[in-house]
Formats: sequence, structure tokens, C-alpha cells
Amino acid sequence: MTDSFLHKGLRKKLVAGLRSKGIDNEAILAAIEKVPRHFFVDSNFASHVYEDKPFPIGAGQTISQPFTVAFQTQLLDLKKFDRVLEIGTGSGYQTAVLIELGATVYTIERQRELFTKCQEILAQMNYLPYAFLGDGYEGKPMFAPFDKILVTAGAKTVPQKLLEQLAIGGRMVIPVGDSEIQEMTVIDKLSEKKYKTSTFGRFSFVPMLQGIEK
Ligand code: SAH
Repeated sequence: MTDSFLHKGLRKKLVAGLRSKGIDNEAILAAIEKVPRHFFVDSNFASHVYEDKPFPIGAGQTISQPFTVAFQTQLLDLKKFDRVLEIGTGSGYQTAVLIELGATVYTIERQRELFTKCQEILAQMNYLPYAFLGDGYEGKPMFAPFDKILVTAGAKTVPQKLLEQLAIGGRMVIPVGDSEIQEMTVIDKLSEKKYKTSTFGRFSFVPMLQGIEK
């Protein structure tokens, strides 16, 4: 796969578009300008992938729209070396953006086909997350607590186990709602029992499902 001047130019345009939509975190914009998003989708979509739209990545799933990736990442308020648990690796694009920003990423995907595919792509680009085939509702207790937890599928409710695996002073970003529309929700863990919840508008994600796809 090549990253041509055309692709680089399209990424510059995409970043300008994100800026006009209110994304103002320069580090995130620089990461989006750097990561070749077209490597993460079927080559049939390569020329369209720099439009601000979601695209199919196989197995009935989608790569999140660039605005959504930027918006969720901005809400995450990353600090260098943050340990981040991502639920829903999907294409691996969001994972790459997090790593580009200096995070150590633990990522869980429940669909075997996507899990295998994204690992290859990420490794080719030298993005090396700790990647797991598993059910995100369980989190990864062995590696907890996490400074940040990012859920990239729509959850009906906030999974209790993920709250438990968040560090005190940590933050979770999770779209919460029914199968069609979710509210972007930020949960700050203030103490072992105290949380502060804020919401940031409506989004539409594929659903967060239970169990591993066989
Ligand atoms: N971050 C991804 C978004 C992919 S869409 C990207 O940038 O491409 C959401 C992904 O969440 C899908 O791949 C879906 O299979 C996965 N998913 C849904 N429920 C899950 C669960 N319980 N555990 C882990 N992954 C899950």
C-alpha cells in the first residue's frame, strides 16, 4: 500500500474540515494528518475514505467517521503515556491515532475476522497495541486500572466492570443509548464510589454486543 501525495493532500483537507467543525486540539489534528486512514479500509473505498463519513470494514461493522474519532479523542483528554483501554478495535484506525498521540493502548475486539485483519495492518505500520479478542463488557482486569477508557460501540448502559477498571482520576468516554442513537457520555472517576457524568451530543454507533463472535 502506498501513501501518495494525493492521499496526503486529502488528509490536509480532511483536517481543515475537522477544524471548521470545532476540533481544535492541535496534537489530534496532527495525528489525523499523519495516519494513513486509507490503509484501514478496503481499497474500493480508498479514494472516499478522506471524506468525513463512516465506511464499512467488513463483518457488518464500520470505521468511525473522522469527526467522531477526533471528537472522542478530544474528550479523552489524553496525557502522554496514558494507559488507554479501547473497546471495539474495528479497523484499528482509532487505535493508531491513540498510539500516535503517545498512549499505551490495550484494545479489545469481539469479532475474530476484524481482530485478525487490524492486527496485520497496525503491525505493518509499526503501531503496536496490546490487542485482544474478547468481550469488551469484561474489560481487561489483569491490566487495570486504566487512565482512560474509550468505547467505540454504542452501549445500552455503562458496563460496571469498566467503571471498576478505571483509575481514580481517570476518565471514560462512551456512547450510551438505544440501538439507533446514543448520547456521547464522559464519566470522570473522582473516588472509588464517586463519578461525575457529562454528555456531549448525539451520535450513532454500531451496537456494543455481548460475547465473542464465534
Ligand atoms: N474504533 C473502530 C470503530 C469500529 S466500530 C475504528 O476506528 O474502526 C465498533 C467495533 O466494536 C466493531 O468492530 C464491533 O465488532 C466492536 N464491538 C462491539 N461490541 C463489542 C464488545 N462487547 N467488545 C469488543 N468489541 C465490540
